[in-house]
Amino acid sequence: MLVAELEFKIIADTSFADAEKGIRFYLEKLIFQGQILGREFPTYQAQDSFFSRVVLPQADALDKASHSKAGLIALELLQQVGLSYPKLTILGYDLMSNHTDPCPGHAALILFCSFSATNSVLYCAEHFAPIPLYKVGRTSGEDFESLVRWQLQYQALDEIQMQEKRVLFKSAEQSVQGFYSGLNQQGYKQARALSKELNKPVYYYLYSGSSADCVLDAEKKCPSCGSDWKLGQSWHGLFDFCCEPCQLVSNIAFDCQP
Ligand SMILES: [Zn+2]
Ligand SMILES: [Zn+2]
Repeated sequence: MLVAELEFKIIADTSFADAEKGIRFYLEKLIFQGQILGREFPTYQAQDSFFSRVVLPQADALDKASHSKAGLIALELLQQVGLSYPKLTILGYDLMSNHTDPCPGHAALILFCSFSATNSVLYCAEHFAPIPLYKVGRTSGEDFESLVRWQLQYQALDEIQMQEKRVLFKSAEQSVQGFYSGLNQQGYKQARALSKELNKPVYYYLYSGSSADCVLDAEKKCPSCGSDWKLGQSWHGLFDFCCEPCQLVSNIAFDCQP
């Protein structure tokens, strides 16, 4: 992924508050379309411009064609607050983030979320690398706001349940690993809807951290339909279970793995 800077030139009378509002609104729309990654975007003023530091999944992320309908509107609104279209300067590769999937198209996707990654939660099923959301192949022009908002909640809970001295004992873990938790039901529903829209499988990853019985854990059934779903060999070195009809994947509880 790439570290880049956006320059918004001041082209008409504006106030600091209006300019900030316009930039904030535009960056938010870029987040919801997966065009920029992360949560913090240092923004400063220097002479006649504002500058924002962002991380892009790919160099074409800010092309007009990559924008959602809402993003295009936000782009036009910049002029109403006295700012130019942003000028993009790519500064270099981000050493701290992982690689974006290079495939031009995808036969299947995996919806996979974890606490530490700021990248897209949609992965190429073949290479298990994140696909920028704007590259997923949606044609409606709608953005991924609900998926990005779900990701934020997932990561907040996952972050808590990963801590040794967690402040929410068990409840955070149950949210993340229980198939019928509100969190997973919301995520699974989004995977189902996307699968229908794109007309391809979108597997949903169900995290498994701990288990009351490690012998039974390796024999567990699909939590959705109750079928056997154990794979002969793990997929991408992570998924030990896969139910094709339910498009669900999971792992042997990490606490039960050698
Ligand atoms: Zn791929
Ligand atoms: Zn199933």
